[in-house]
Amino acid sequence: MLTTKKIDKPQIDQKIICDSIPDFDLQYQHRIIDKSLHYLESLDDLARFDKDESSFKESYPGFTEHMKKMYSERFTNSRYPNAYELYIKIRTSQPYCPYCNFRSRFPSQIDHYLPKSVFPTFALTVDNLVPICSDCNKKKRNIVQIEKSKRIIHPYYDEFANKAFDYIGCEIIEENPIGFKFYIQKSDAIDDEQFQRLQTHFNLLALDKLYKADFEADFVSYIEELKIILNESDIEDTKKALERKIKSLKLSKQAPWRYAGYNALFNSDWFFNTYLQKLKQENNVT
Ligand SMILES: [Zn+2]
Repeated sequence: MLTTKKIDKPQIDQKIICDSIPDFDLQYQHRIIDKSLHYLESLDDLARFDKDESSFKESYPGFTEHMKKMYSERFTNSRYPNAYELYIKIRTSQPYCPYCNFRSRFPSQIDHYLPKSVFPTFALTVDNLVPICSDCNKKKRNIVQIEKSKRIIHPYYDEFANKAFDYIGCEIIEENPIGFKFYIQKSDAIDDEQFQRLQTHFNLLALDKLYKADFEADFVSYIEELKIILNESDIEDTKKALERKIKSLKLSKQAPWRYAGYNALFNSDWFFNTYLQKLKQENNVT
């Protein structure tokens, strides 16, 4: 396993969640518990579940509002400690946001992977409740894609998302100042549908901008190290240093976008022959 995208979901029995919420309508609890057992099947054939959910909502017009109320006013409310404890357990089950994988972004909220306004049945289903950072939650919005190929990554189920060292690419913009563009690249590690979904995920959550900003901050300090090597030695030694940097990033299994960025630099003739040469000349002048 290379990175940390697919995560383990918290182990909480669905009935315990239902029991923790006061005044939770019993006529709905049976459906919640039953459908929660088949969450993955519903994800796989969302068109069919969507029909089932729509007809249930028609038969029970108060269902959606009741479920939204149970979640917002009971489950996430510290006045109901039994429910609130379970809410906190889920929210804090991850050290950082599994949607952006950015270590400084703490999951301060819970995302309904399938929005509760559209699929109220899953408003309290553990499999559907994913810890998320506020930045990702703002961007994710309540869009439902019935077609699987258009859906973003589900952190509890989409294990292929772990292969970020293979699918995050970076293009060097050969200008002064140097620029970087991050994107999802085709790879043997992912199929066409996974490629499409990763692109949707990347675009919707603006991960290209996030990774670019992080990489540029890291690059600004790393280039100082390369300058020192250039001063004391030559381009070949900077190449060796960069190679070590790439290797250690891969071994650390963290920040695959940095790996992609430095790997792109390592494979860029322009970086060594033009950019670094210019730096070397500037160094010699000062
Ligand atoms: Zn995030």
